[in-house]
Amino acid sequence: MTATHYPVVIVGAGPTGLTLANLLGSYGIPTLLLERHASTVGEPRAVSIDDESLRTLQNAGVMAAVLPDLVLGYGVHYFSWTGREFARIEPTSREYGHPKRSAFRQPLLEKCLLEGLARFAHVDVRLCSELLRHHDDGTRVGLDVNGPAGPATFSCDWLVACDGGRSGVREALGVAMRGTTFAERWLIVDLAGRDDPFPHTRTYCDPARPAIRLPGPHRTLRYEFMMFDHEEPEQVLDESRIREWMRARVPDDEHLRIVRKVVYTFHARMAERWKVGRVLLAGDAAHLTPPFAGQGMNSGLRDAFNLAWKLAAVTAARLAPELLESYEIERKPHAWSLIVMALRIGRFMQPKSKAGAMAMQAALRIAGWYPPARDYVLHLKFKPKPRFGGGFFVPSNEREGVRAGQLFPQPAVALVDGTRVLLDECLGAGFSLIASAGHEKVQQAAAMLAEFVPCMICFYPPEAACSPPGAGYASQVIDAEGVIARTLRDAGAVAVILRPDRYVLGYLGAQNPADDAARVFRLLRGGQICPAIGGM
Ligand SMILES: Cc1cc2nc3c(=O)[nH]c(=O)nc-3n(C[C@H](O)[C@H](O)[C@H](O)COP(=O)(O)OP(=O)(O)OC[C@H]3O[C@@H](n4cnc5c(N)ncnc54)[C@H](O)[C@@H]3O)c2cc1C
Repeated sequence: MTATHYPVVIVGAGPTGLTLANLLGSYGIPTLLLERHASTVGEPRAVSIDDESLRTLQNAGVMAAVLPDLVLGYGVHYFSWTGREFARIEPTSREYGHPKRSAFRQPLLEKCLLEGLARFAHVDVRLCSELLRHHDDGTRVGLDVNGPAGPATFSCDWLVACDGGRSGVREALGVAMRGTTFAERWLIVDLAGRDDPFPHTRTYCDPARPAIRLPGPHRTLRYEFMMFDHEEPEQVLDESRIREWMRARVPDDEHLRIVRKVVYTFHARMAERWKVGRVLLAGDAAHLTPPFAGQGMNSGLRDAFNLAWKLAAVTAARLAPELLESYEIERKPHAWSLIVMALRIGRFMQPKSKAGAMAMQAALRIAGWYPPARDYVLHLKFKPKPRFGGGFFVPSNEREGVRAGQLFPQPAVALVDGTRVLLDECLGAGFSLIASAGHEKVQQAAAMLAEFVPCMICFYPPEAACSPPGAGYASQVIDAEGVIARTLRDAGAVAVILRPDRYVLGYLGAQNPADDAARVFRLLRGGQICPAIGGM
């Protein structure tokens, strides 16, 4: 048995591990992905994918493959215990280039992601391979694996545990799960052959039986019914009872083919540490989010994008290993804020009594008469922004708009030949700089960053003709929607440096761009990570 060494080993081919492997593959990092099952898990769990995750999949190069299995842009309609609609979430903006909420099916996404790995000869996928033990000696991690041909050993520089909610790696590390203990059981019923074209989720906030109806791609349908404490799984799994509950909601659904029915227990918990030595936790191994906000997997995909470029930069010795300390600082508070949001939505969806339901639903209806409050709900503005309190970025003073340490918008831009593309398509896989055209001092300051920032582009306003990009810039684009100019203006800047995950690393102002660039340069050279403010 000879040990084979990889810069990165990922345990678990769920959506987190598969996305991470695709991103590492696209960055050219030799990676081993271990999965104990013969294929991806195939449990139809997640059904709702957000705009940030679609941007991640776009950057992983699998968007075209995933698109046929998506229903882009759907909302939620809330119904009272009397069956009356009293609130709606129907966001229409595409701040990050994709609809805020789209319907999908987890097994189909996992299949696409697994197939996507065939693009990379340097990503080794081993199915039927269970990690039994790991040993971190401080310089590398040794792994004992039970593979299809028997025991095997491997080693790696960094081990990423994407091994799910019952993570064996987390347990072996002795990392506790903390947070609100919340364990509620729901019956999940997946159906096929839906004819009803209504695309939106219906949520029935009825204390008699809280329920959710979620249409999906390829005429699928999901029902989720809350179980009460006194109910046993055998009772609620009874088919005639399920059909009766569906008939009470949408009569035509009663006759659909049941593909699967299962009882799940939902948790709201967070791992105390996300990095121990050379081992990192990601996805459900690090956080468990009740699915009321449809965010568990989305949080895992955020982990994957955050980690992928950092692992790539550290293993290729382009950035200092301390960079990896920023992973937990950046991701943990945000993942926790989504757990809190899911718990709030859950409480709202599961009123304990008719009186409670009436009070809550009346309050929301009245709030809906006030346009800013209605907008807040309708456009999903209550969702925590993808923004870090601390981490790997150069903090700046901007009070409005997109701060340093926040995900940059993804508008459509026009290329010189008039073709419209999403911004990320022009940025390459590494750090990038986007500057307003015609600022000579900025151009000179940007040159200082060339060692770390391979992609520098300039942009022109919509009405301008694209002149040649100017020395130092690889290309130029037209800011077709005016979003880049507006974002920079709000930040008091004329250029922005984006990290590979499209979060703002820092801004360059018009006054002293060389000083601003020097601060960014010092950070990239191994400078200090901005400490977290607040968080869990
Ligand atoms: C009913 C339900 C509905 C949901 N709806 C949504 C939703 O709409 N939107 C959303 O964002 N999220 C949703 N979620 C949550 C989402 O499904 C999970 O957050 C997501 O699956 C977590 O992905 P993961 O890759 O981190 O872990 P997992 O999907 O659990 O994958 C872990 C993988 O690791 C493998 N593994 C474990 N141990 C080992 C080992 N020792 N060696 C090798 N392999 C190992 C497992 O076999 C598995 O394949 C829902 C969850 C449920 C239960």
